[in-house]
Amino acid sequence: MIFTENSKQAVVFLRQAVPKMMEHSIVPNPFNFTLWYSYFSKQFPLLNQELDYIIDRYNTCPPEMSEKLFLKHIIKIDENTEDVQKAYQQGIVDLVENLSVSIDVTIQESYQFSSALNENIVQLGECSISDVVQGVLGDLSRNASSLCSVTDALQSKMVAAQTEIDSLKKELETSKEQANTDSLTGLSNRRVFETIYNKVVAVSNGRDISLIIMDIDKFKLFNDNFGHLMGDQVLKLVGQLLKEECKDPLIPIRFGGEEFVLLCPESSIKEAYDIAENIRVKLSRIALSNKRTGEKLPPVTASFGVTVSDGTELLHAVIERADKALYLAKESGRNRVQIAI
Ligand code: GH3
Ligand code: MG
Ligand code: MG
Repeated sequence: MIFTENSKQAVVFLRQAVPKMMEHSIVPNPFNFTLWYSYFSKQFPLLNQELDYIIDRYNTCPPEMSEKLFLKHIIKIDENTEDVQKAYQQGIVDLVENLSVSIDVTIQESYQFSSALNENIVQLGECSISDVVQGVLGDLSRNASSLCSVTDALQSKMVAAQTEIDSLKKELETSKEQANTDSLTGLSNRRVFETIYNKVVAVSNGRDISLIIMDIDKFKLFNDNFGHLMGDQVLKLVGQLLKEECKDPLIPIRFGGEEFVLLCPESSIKEAYDIAENIRVKLSRIALSNKRTGEKLPPVTASFGVTVSDGTELLHAVIERADKALYLAKESGRNRVQIAI
């Protein structure tokens, strides 16, 4: 869904849309704002035809019809699949962004207009004028008052819609954040790794970006010996350790299973080696025990593969190199850091 209007044009469409919605008792929710905004922008001719037909027939547009029209004409989808849901979500984000600006401007201008009109009427009332003019002024004042109360009602509806839009936006941001976060460790997950990497590359200006892959040693055995729940506790602890040790600009990511990636912007390979070595030592020194039984557990260790890039390679090539170094670290006895050769 693309709205290309600048904010002045957008306000014009919204100004036409709101009275029409009020006239036909259409609920001022984001779907309807978008539909009627689009109606006046004449961006989707078939939508206009359908809306005209519905208003002719029902003298309003029931919410379930609004939603269908929104999906069909604006997001252009008919079925409810996963892709559809994504498009739907994106559609909501877009409409919220477009409408928020227009609504803000309209509310401000309406307030200015109401107060200017009232002020003028008060000023006129203070002059000595004939009875006829006094009568007309009275009518004008009453009309202005009723106009103000209509404007006020409209404003409160718009404020309510804006609040709804804001909370919708927040909900969407939270759900996006949740989808990008690993629930066990609270670290970013693999899903956003490439996006994060691309952002780092975009501002790196050819400076070194180092990458560390970390893999817990013999973790299958740990799970077999002490149970999967205990294993989960260890992963949580590793997540905490990585958060503590990876201060800005370092970015720890749960890559999957018992593997983690540490993205080290502006870091040379030597610096990245030191970061990995520090984490390796700290992890191996954590005294683990089963809180429930008090049983002492053997230390958990990890192996690390480290490599560096100038940002001109694809991510998978960098990972492959770090992975080979990790393999060498495992081969040569685990609990060690290996630089890619
Ligand atoms: P290596 O030192 O060669 O890495 O040995 P490993 O046992 O760590 O490697 P392997 O790939 O054979 O096994 C990985 C284990 O990690 C198996 C799996 O049960 C465990 N694991 C992966 N994700 C989780 C998780 O979310 N929770 C728990 N408890 N275990 C996990
Ligand atoms: Mg592994
Ligand atoms: Mg492992």
